[in-house]
Amino acid sequence: MPPRINPDKCNGCEGLAESKCEEACPGDLMAVDETVMKAYCRSTNDCWDCMSCTKACPRNAIEQRIPYQLGYHKATLKPFMSKNTITWKCKDIYGNEKVYKYRNRMDK
Ligand code: SF4
Ligand code: SF4
Repeated sequence: MPPRINPDKCNGCEGLAESKCEEACPGDLMAVDETVMKAYCRSTNDCWDCMSCTKACPRNAIEQRIPYQLGYHKATLKPFMSKNTITWKCKDIYGNEKVYKYRNRMDK
């Protein structure tokens, strides 16, 4: 499922020549509509759910739906990056939430 951008959180990475989500996407799928300064995925069918854009967003504005084959509609998985850890919040179709926190690869 393609990324869903929360328009209340996204500010288009104001002030940057290239937004963090554009920079992170290996498929060059993310873009910013500069008339409203909001990100969007320009080719949702080509998104392969790698979550690079989701992790890169400094405002936690991107949510990735879990593909329905794995979690059905409404199940979500959100990463929250901090200096040495990544925290994954997983919500199932009934709204139950589980949180998993790991040290990231940069942590020595
Ligand atoms: S990285 Fe986040 S805040 Fe920046 S343009 Fe993308 S969605 Fe918006
Ligand atoms: S999930 Fe991966 S492939 Fe899809 S738009 Fe984000 S960075 Fe690009």
